[in-house]
Amino acid sequence: MLLIGLTGGIGAGKTEVSDYLHSCYGIKIIDADVISRELLQKGSNAYYEIQQNFPAHIFDAEGNIDRKALRTLIFDDEAARQKLEQIIHPRVRSEIKKQIDHSDSAYCILSAPLLIEAGMNDLIERLLVIDCSKDLRIQRVIARDDCKVEDIEKIMARQLDDKHRLECADDIVTNNSNHASLTDQLDQLHKKYLDLTHQASHNPTYV
Ligand code: ATP
Repeated sequence: MLLIGLTGGIGAGKTEVSDYLHSCYGIKIIDADVISRELLQKGSNAYYEIQQNFPAHIFDAEGNIDRKALRTLIFDDEAARQKLEQIIHPRVRSEIKKQIDHSDSAYCILSAPLLIEAGMNDLIERLLVIDCSKDLRIQRVIARDDCKVEDIEKIMARQLDDKHRLECADDIVTNNSNHASLTDQLDQLHKKYLDLTHQASHNPTYV
């Protein structure tokens, strides 16, 4: 199974891209953020580990993990961030592998904002980076989330800078224009990925 990593800075358009590939071409999208969110649900093994290692204020009145409080804590506390990663990352990886095994999609997309930062490169065959100017990303995220520029810049500061991210890319989609320009690029890319899938399946292996 060809697994394509999909990444990009905050607001670059990862969701737009995965929604389009899924709705138009039926491509299976594995979303690392969704997996992490599900892993943090009350009652899970990860939840209990977090309960043992993190302060009470990251839980709400019902005992659920308050994701915003957790995010704030790990922004300022490097040790807490590392501990959280230690708990979450191996579980995310094993869930990703499970989803790939159960998929009959032509190829799969693994969408993760911190794909490179989290060291998930070894899971994927190619990396697709969505590139979009910082100013436009800020503008789009404010329109989407009604949040402050400072909050977005804080998140950007935690992410790999654009230059490094682009250096890791096998494929780059530029999302500085309208939807039509984005989907034109995605139609071409989809054909390329199908070709790669067919090439891989027609390559004989010698034992
Ligand atoms: P995050 O990192 O926060 O998860 P993301 O990379 O998934 O963000 P999207 O949510 O896909 O980014 O896009 C950010 C916002 O910009 C959304 O409101 C989306 O609808 C809008 N957007 C993305 N691409 C375009 C485009 N080509 N034209 C107009 N709006 C766009």
